[in-house]
Amino acid sequence: MARACRWCLVVGVIAAMAGWTLAAEKINVLIIDGQNNHNWKATTPVLKEMLLKSERFNVDVVTTPPKAPPKPSEEAAADIKAAWEKFRPDPSKYGVVLMNYTGDAWPKEVNDAFEKYVQAGGGLVFYHAAVFSMPGWGEWDKMMAMGWHDAKFGDRVHLDDEGKLVRVPKGEGPGGGHGPAQPFEVTIRVKDHPITKGLPEKWQHVKDELYHGMRGPAENMAILATAFSDKTKGGTGCHEPMAWTVSYGKGRVYVCLLGHDAKVLEAPDCQALIPRGCEWAATGEVTLPAPEGLSAAPR
Ligand code: ZN
Repeated sequence: MARACRWCLVVGVIAAMAGWTLAAEKINVLIIDGQNNHNWKATTPVLKEMLLKSERFNVDVVTTPPKAPPKPSEEAAADIKAAWEKFRPDPSKYGVVLMNYTGDAWPKEVNDAFEKYVQAGGGLVFYHAAVFSMPGWGEWDKMMAMGWHDAKFGDRVHLDDEGKLVRVPKGEGPGGGHGPAQPFEVTIRVKDHPITKGLPEKWQHVKDELYHGMRGPAENMAILATAFSDKTKGGTGCHEPMAWTVSYGKGRVYVCLLGHDAKVLEAPDCQALIPRGCEWAATGEVTLPAPEGLSAAPR
């Protein structure tokens, strides 16, 4: 009897450990939102759902204080300060942080924690308008490599018709912008990267904003996907980066410009590229299956 009970205990402990291991294999993601020139209240639930649906992630969301009014009263300013003092997310508890935020600068203490986190190997993903966020925080600009800035901010990088990388110095060419939302074709430029492996070389993306003129320090990056920005549709006549990776210290950063709103985020390419990018940023690998239903543009 006593022996049987010991076995029960052993089996129970093994089962518990196995369960614990399976649970531990999930990647912890932190989504940060709270301010944006886009409808973050609508997009965060879609981001969260696509991550949870893959069964690869646990997801927490932290929301910053709202945007400060231009001239707050003394009382309002004190409330804002107190609210920011409570904003102390700990990125080191996560495999990857997904940025759905662009707005007021964070307290320096938070910036320092993020620099340390990515330097030490933490994953970071910038989604769509997050590339507007906190310009001038030099290390942040380096982590993003390129973002939505005016022409004086930093170098602009795009691809020419031969697929060659073109670097345009600060002050020349356009700054951040986009023409009217339109359907466009996405072209993969690095086919053997974990994020893009198994995806078709080109596919048709839904009606979305095609960002152009992204700029910044633009160092330590690899452009994974581009889209042709048609001059007749408010674009630049260049192949503009749509997704890229950046190495920063030991950390992996991924930027995905697609996905203006909740509806666009439901498109199969967004549903694939964002979770795959999150998995890669956290682990350096992608185990999520390549998506079905991505097809080339009609000629
Ligand atoms: Zn947008």
